[in-house]
Amino acid sequence: MSCIFCRIVDGDLPSRTVYESDEALAFLDANPLTAGHTLVVPRDHYETVGDLPPGTAGAVFEAVSAVTPRVEAAVDADATTVAVNNGEAAGQEVPHTHVHIVPRFEGDGNGPIHRLFGSRPALSDEELDAVAAAIRSEH
Ligand code: AMP
Ligand code: ZN
Repeated sequence: MSCIFCRIVDGDLPSRTVYESDEALAFLDANPLTAGHTLVVPRDHYETVGDLPPGTAGAVFEAVSAVTPRVEAAVDADATTVAVNNGEAAGQEVPHTHVHIVPRFEGDGNGPIHRLFGSRPALSDEELDAVAAAIRSEH
């Protein structure tokens, strides 16, 4: 098994585990963006968010919801950025879905997720309608 997060789940690689449930596990990121940076993963291997079966998706977000306030309290954070790099083009390096919980502090200057994007496209109402229709028709 080459997936590092599967190896952590299986106990074959060490981790600083902070939360466990039947379907999910949370452990400290080995190269944290801030102290307390935590990753939540499903125990089973799924590459992207869209690959998660509904029950697993629920279990992962349940773990995120349970762990986030504990992380904030533990490092006295004012907030957290909760985010997923979903797919290689979005910067996902470990192909086992994981939710980042990154402690944030007033005035830390790191900005919102919006800052990842330099500018916003000027989309007309018609273009927005077409995108919404395209998403609705995908099922
Ligand atoms: P991503 O770019 O979203 O795939 O993030 C992968 C994250 O996994 C990075 O923040 C790494 O620091 C973290 N990471 C990689 N290997 C380990 C490991 N063995 N234990 C804990 N975190 C890890
Ligand atoms: Zn895996």
